[in-house]
Amino acid sequence: MASSAVYQVTTMKVKILQWHAVASWTWDAQDETCGICRMAFDGCCPDCKFPGDECPIIWGACNHAFHLHCILKWVNSQTSTPLCPMCRREWQFKG
Ligand SMILES: [Zn+2]
Ligand SMILES: [Zn+2]
Ligand SMILES: [Zn+2]
Repeated sequence: MASSAVYQVTTMKVKILQWHAVASWTWDAQDETCGICRMAFDGCCPDCKFPGDECPIIWGACNHAFHLHCILKWVNSQTSTPLCPMCRREWQFKG
């Protein structure tokens, strides 16, 4: 016999027993590390001792990100128009 009439609607109570926070999440679009010094963005550039506001992360118009100190050093070391160290496009600070 087909059980055509009886539906038992069961309310599933979703119980979150344990929430594992993902400790190391990754950005989809961005490298996690500075393309110049290869240090992680949750740290600071090699010139700084402590991560924080002193060593912010700067995005360029090409969407590559670097430590402020790293890209400043890079830009200052270029004799001509500075290019992004990652993609070699003309470097412009993202406004
Ligand atoms: Zn850096
Ligand atoms: Zn720094
Ligand atoms: Zn770039």
